[in-house]
Amino acid sequence: MDEFELIDRWFTGRGATRADVRLPVGDDAAIVAPPPGAELVLALDTIVAGTHFPAGTPARAVGHRALAVNLSDIAAMGAEPAWALLGLTLPAVDEDWVAEFSRGLDELARRHGIALIGGDTTRGALAATLTLAGLLPPGTALRRRGAQAGDDIWVSGTPGDAAAGLAILQGRLQAAGEARERLLQRFLLPEPRVALGIALRGLASACIDVSDGLAGDLGKLCAASGTGARIESRALPLSPALVEAAGPEAAPGLALAGGDDYELLFTAPAGLRGAVGALTAGVECRRIGTVIAGREVLVDGAALPRDAGHGFDHFAG
Ligand code: ADP
Ligand code: MG
Repeated sequence: MDEFELIDRWFTGRGATRADVRLPVGDDAAIVAPPPGAELVLALDTIVAGTHFPAGTPARAVGHRALAVNLSDIAAMGAEPAWALLGLTLPAVDEDWVAEFSRGLDELARRHGIALIGGDTTRGALAATLTLAGLLPPGTALRRRGAQAGDDIWVSGTPGDAAAGLAILQGRLQAAGEARERLLQRFLLPEPRVALGIALRGLASACIDVSDGLAGDLGKLCAASGTGARIESRALPLSPALVEAAGPEAAPGLALAGGDDYELLFTAPAGLRGAVGALTAGVECRRIGTVIAGREVLVDGAALPRDAGHGFDHFAG
């Protein structure tokens, strides 16, 4: 099968059908018609085999993740996703692999009303780059900057699960039964918090998605806002699966330093605590700390090094 047959069979008409797509896959470029006055929000992320997912990851999960990592950035802006462009680099044309990749991407795209409108297919080391465009009423974007001293710090879902899932996949962590399945699923098929991001417009003072680890991403939000933060590890929403697999001692470290969660980490004025707590956007949010003056990020009162992130593992023991 050549490149054109491949595109025709697996990348044409994928994702949702949208009335605002004037020209889909098949011409030199795609044409869309954004609603008048809307702001366009654009994100691009690449995932590379061996770097962002282990070689041998199921193709369906690779297709899902190629979109999910971008969907999470769009969610963190409070935008509504609309159109995607896919740059796919394949070492060889393995049709079964491409079919599963396409299925993973298509399923997630449909659930979020996203149309795949174009892309590029090349030969080389396995990698997928996706450009995702979203829509936003003017001036309503959630930004990394905007947190104020005294604001509450919130996180969605149960961070740390994905890092545990990756560790299981790589044989660094043992788990069995339902906990194992749940953690693997959280790494392979993350659910970006799109509905939550949209619900947080007008509530959150700042927002970031957790891709590099909660502590490191909190550091980025604070740096952008010119604030510090104080969080308590006992307030972290740890999943029973994570605690079972990693143990109660190591679990908070995975939640703080592990990556790939694709949860939303955000701040909101304390006066909006009730409103944020009452949100029903498909995922629970937990209050884990407070924005403070200064530049320091404190976990249980101890300062986090400025370059923390992946390196922040002293809780992991
Ligand atoms: P060109 O050489 O003009 O760039 P291509 O042959 O690369 O055209 O692509 C033909 C059509 O297929 C274009 O509409 C392009 O956007 C689309 N396309 C190519 N690869 C992909 C892909 N992986 N996913 C979605 N659309 C694709
Ligand atoms: Mg062309």
